[in-house]
Amino acid sequence: MRIAFGGIHTECSTYNPVFAQEKDFLVLRGEELLASDRFAFLNDYKATFVPLLHARAIPGGPVARETYESFKAEFCERLEAAMPIDGLYLAMHGAMFVEGLEDAEGDWITAARQIVGDDCPITASYDLHGNVTQRIIDALNMFSTYRTAPHIDVEETMRRSVSMLMKSLEEGVTPILLWAPIPVVLPGERTSTEDQPAKNLYARLPFSDAIKGIWDSSLMVGYVWADEPRTTAAAIFTGTDKDVLEQEAKKLAQAYWDAREDFIFGCETGSLKECVAQAIASETAPVILADSGDNPTGGGVGDRADALAELIAQNAQNVILAGITDAPALEKCFAAGEGASLDLTVGASLDTKGSKPVEITAVVKLLKDADKPADRQAVIQVDGIQLVLCAKRRPYHNIADFTLLGLDPKQAQIVVVKSGYLSPELAPIANPNLMALSNGVVDQFVERLPRLRKLKPTYPFDTKFSFEPQTFISASSLRSIGQ
Ligand SMILES: [Zn+2]
Repeated sequence: MRIAFGGIHTECSTYNPVFAQEKDFLVLRGEELLASDRFAFLNDYKATFVPLLHARAIPGGPVARETYESFKAEFCERLEAAMPIDGLYLAMHGAMFVEGLEDAEGDWITAARQIVGDDCPITASYDLHGNVTQRIIDALNMFSTYRTAPHIDVEETMRRSVSMLMKSLEEGVTPILLWAPIPVVLPGERTSTEDQPAKNLYARLPFSDAIKGIWDSSLMVGYVWADEPRTTAAAIFTGTDKDVLEQEAKKLAQAYWDAREDFIFGCETGSLKECVAQAIASETAPVILADSGDNPTGGGVGDRADALAELIAQNAQNVILAGITDAPALEKCFAAGEGASLDLTVGASLDTKGSKPVEITAVVKLLKDADKPADRQAVIQVDGIQLVLCAKRRPYHNIADFTLLGLDPKQAQIVVVKSGYLSPELAPIANPNLMALSNGVVDQFVERLPRLRKLKPTYPFDTKFSFEPQTFISASSLRSIGQ
């Protein structure tokens, strides 16, 4: 059996003005894909896997059109060269936004369908923060998405997706795929599977998988910072019994709808000003303060200095702030050298209109050089604040990100990170965790963001409307069941 695989994986805030270019992607081609840890699990299946292209970037702004088109062209070229194949596996995220293109994943998946033809089964794995459309469902035969947020079941999900394809090929059965959109779209921070009601909703899925005629039950939260018509939550089901699939998809969609008002933040929240004051006054430490509106792993720019300004204004002491993306300020630190004192302007280096820079006098404590200029970092001291500057957009969500710079987050009074819900490594040391509903292109206070293109009505932007779940079957499924 020959199974081709590849895809594109990123999440784009349509509010972020900084375009993702080719250099922002980690691109694996051909044999590199087979050798990568991400796809090592494919060795466990008795099939010949034909690697195509997989492009992956951390969340951010829209993908530049030419970058997208060049990845898509190469993917399609490799897929054409791989033919004939028995099946195709697409490893996607689902919340990509491409400059001037509607429904980017729909475009990619439809192009793949046109190459492989109607009879070749296609399976996809997604991030639960993706947005799905009828066009996407129409081009697929099988679908599976993460069941945890923070995501700790990435490989498990990819395995579910590939296992369905193997089952389909081994048993000679093409399953039915259908979905039930749910007009609710909430931030990931209100729908973490560590907290209720998402925890219970996702706990239902293995039970529904066990029902005869169901192969996979998926629940999509959707991606709220995409101001697109396709932005939606959804129940998506794969299996062989159409009636059962319809019934269970509707049940899950109804349960999600019924719980819509119960989705709340899993930690204490407030304005940046309130959170900084509370962190200074805290008798326990370290207080881990998430600057959530500028979280690069949610699609934020990562260059905002609002938290720095507030910490200085309130004279906060024993603080680690990691980090602010500011290549020009970083270069000045490298030019000055360790131990130097210098005046700097920090912030708003990428999104020059979105926020205000801050003028500071700092001492360069540590310079972390790297092979690539984009990987350079520095630690500078601004009064009681140890501030990390980095050249590229990146998170500081692992303990090693700090220790590599000689910083110990456990010894600080306050650790400020650009994050939404805390990462699995930071959450256990937070004492306590506060989330600032700060400004930025991934503002958690989604109701205050401009909404020009999302469908109306959608909760929580609209609150007074009723909903009755409906299912829509994939066009590929209709063909395979002869309708
Ligand atoms: Zn996600």
